[in-house]
Amino acid sequence: MGPTGDAGAPATGGKKAPAKAAARETAKKTAEMPVEKSVEKSVEKSVPAKRTAAKKTAARKTADGSPKPPAAKAKKTAAAKTKQSAPAKQSAPAKQSAPAKQSAATKQSAPAKQSAATKQSAPAKQSAATKQSAPAKKTSGGARAESHAAMVRRARKINRELAEVYPYAHPELDFENPFQLLVATVLSAQTTDLRVNQTTPALFAKYPTPEDLAAAVPEELEETIRPTGFFRAKARSLLGLSAALRDNFGGEVPGSLDDLVTLPGVGRKTAFVVLGNAFGVPGITVDTHFGRLVRRWKWTDQEDPVKVEAAVAEIFPKSDWTMLSHRVIFHGRRICHARKPACGACPIAPLCPAYGEGETDPEKAKKLLKYEKGGMPGQRLKPPPDYPGTPAPPLAGR
Ligand code: SF4
Repeated sequence: MGPTGDAGAPATGGKKAPAKAAARETAKKTAEMPVEKSVEKSVEKSVPAKRTAAKKTAARKTADGSPKPPAAKAKKTAAAKTKQSAPAKQSAPAKQSAPAKQSAATKQSAPAKQSAATKQSAPAKQSAATKQSAPAKKTSGGARAESHAAMVRRARKINRELAEVYPYAHPELDFENPFQLLVATVLSAQTTDLRVNQTTPALFAKYPTPEDLAAAVPEELEETIRPTGFFRAKARSLLGLSAALRDNFGGEVPGSLDDLVTLPGVGRKTAFVVLGNAFGVPGITVDTHFGRLVRRWKWTDQEDPVKVEAAVAEIFPKSDWTMLSHRVIFHGRRICHARKPACGACPIAPLCPAYGEGETDPEKAKKLLKYEKGGMPGQRLKPPPDYPGTPAPPLAGR
C-alpha cells in the first residue's frame, strides 16, 4: 500500500496541492462539527432519556448508582433511544420474580393438596403429619419418609396409649397352671379363645394332668375337644405332648423355649404364650392379630411371624414384650379388626398410618366394637378381677 500511496501523492501534487489541502481542512472542520454537535445532541437527548429511564427504573437502580461519564451517558442514550429494550430488560427480572411468587404459592398449595389427600389419615395427627410431609416432599415423600427413630418413638407411644386403653390386658385363655395353658394354647389354633374356654372345663375335669391326658382314649378325647375344630389333629398333638411331658420332663411343663418347641404341636407362638404367662419369661406373641396390626402401624412389613417377632423385639425392651403382646391382640380383637377396623372409634388413630382403612364415621365405627368395648361378654369364663366386662357364658348344651 505504501508505494501505491506514495506514488499517488506526487501525481496529485503541483499547483493543485494547496487547493486540496484547503479542501481537506475544510472537510476536517465540517467533519468535526457534526460530531461535536451530534455528541451535544445526543447528550441533550440522553438527559431526558436517562431521567425517563430513572423514573421507569425507580425500583431497579443501577448497580453502582454513581454518575456516569459522558461516554457512558452517550451509551446510555443509545440504550435509552431503544426504549423498547429497556422495558424488555425490566420485564426479564419481572418475569423471574413472577415465577418466584408462583413457586411460593405452589409451595403453599402443595401441602394443602397433601393435607387434602391425606385427610383420610388420622385427623389429629394430620396437622403434624402434614407439617412434616411438606419438607419431606422436598426430599422424597410424606409418611414413607419417617425415620426408624421416629417410628420407634411412635411405636412406643402406641404401646403407652394401649396400656391406658387396656390396663386390664391379659391372656384370654382360661388356665390355672402351665399345663392347662399349654393345652389351651394348642387348642386355640384356628378358633377363638372363647370357644377354647368353653371347651376346656370339661377337658381338664376329665384329664387334669399330663399323665391323664396321655392315657386318654383318642376317640373320647376327640369328642371332648370337637367344638374347637380340627379336633383329630389337635387330639394327636395333645396325646403326643402329654406323653412327652410325662416321659421327658417328669410330667412338668418345661420353662425354656428350646424344650417347649420339642413338644408335638408346640411352635414358637405357643411357647411364648406359655413362657410369658405361666413362667414370667418375656415373649412376643405373633398371632394373626399381632402381625396384622404391626404391619398396619408400619413397625415392620414382614409377613413371617419369626421375622415380625425379631423386628418388634428391636423396638421394645424385653420387659415390655409380654404385655405389649396382650395389648396389641386386645386391640386387634376389639377395634382394629381384620376386615373392617373401627377407625372412627380408635383411640390411637392419630398415631396410625392406616387410619381410614376401616370405618371412620364415629357412630358407625362404635357399632363395630367388640367384647367389653362393645358392651358384650368377654372371651374368658373366668376373667381376672380387674376385667371391666362380663364373663363369657359356658358352651350351650354342656
Ligand atoms: S382401627 Fe384404624 S386407626 Fe385404629 S389402629 Fe386400626 S387401622 Fe389404625
